Amino acid sequence: MHSIDSEIAAASEDQQLPASENMNQHAENFVCCEECDVVYKRIELKKGEKAYCLRCGAGLYKNGRTLEQLLPLVIASLIMFAISNAYPIVQIELQGIRSETTLFGAVLAMFQEGRGLVALLVLFTTIIFPLCELLLLLYILISLNVLKTKPIGMAIALRIIRVFRIWGMIEVFLIGVLVTLVKLVVMVTIIPGIALWSFAILTVLMVLVISVKVSDIWDQVEKI
Ligand SMILES: [Zn+2]
Repeated sequence: MHSIDSEIAAASEDQQLPASENMNQHAENFVCCEECDVVYKRIELKKGEKAYCLRCGAGLYKNGRTLEQLLPLVIASLIMFAISNAYPIVQIELQGIRSETTLFGAVLAMFQEGRGLVALLVLFTTIIFPLCELLLLLYILISLNVLKTKPIGMAIALRIIRVFRIWGMIEVFLIGVLVTLVKLVVMVTIIPGIALWSFAILTVLMVLVISVKVSDIWDQVEKI
């Protein structure tokens, strides 16, 4: 860690460049701090090492098996997503008739009960956002890791993922779960079964997936 800092420090003394044409020609040799826009010359890191910005301390880039590790995480998340949506997660009681339903069924029931806003929030945060992010990542990672090509529309896909994250997807996701639980407790009973546990595992996996920054994916793409 210290040796990297000092190497970057050495490099940065004469390599703190203003944005220039020269930079564009060798853009892959430079890295720009996302937080404070200082430009550093890129140096080779050993496996597991990470470079930090000298001015603000933000992470710049790292040399890990980021994408190789991300693919199994994404696949595991999708499996958990499928399981948590396939099994009943709540028990609804309507006019004395009890029935078990899935997360999506609960969303529909909330719509029917006139809780449209909560239904939409739950639908987006627990179903649509995570599913879109996971499918986009799966598409990108399979292209990069398995097919060894840059996927078509990758820039757009990564931008969409970034927008989801700017909106604080994980916080919204967790708040969505909380709201779901609170609102559902009033209306229906949660079944502590397969769907609930796989959903809990999915939440943990999503935290790990989101810990890989979009810029880290870009860095790996440039090496291909
Ligand atoms: Zn910085």
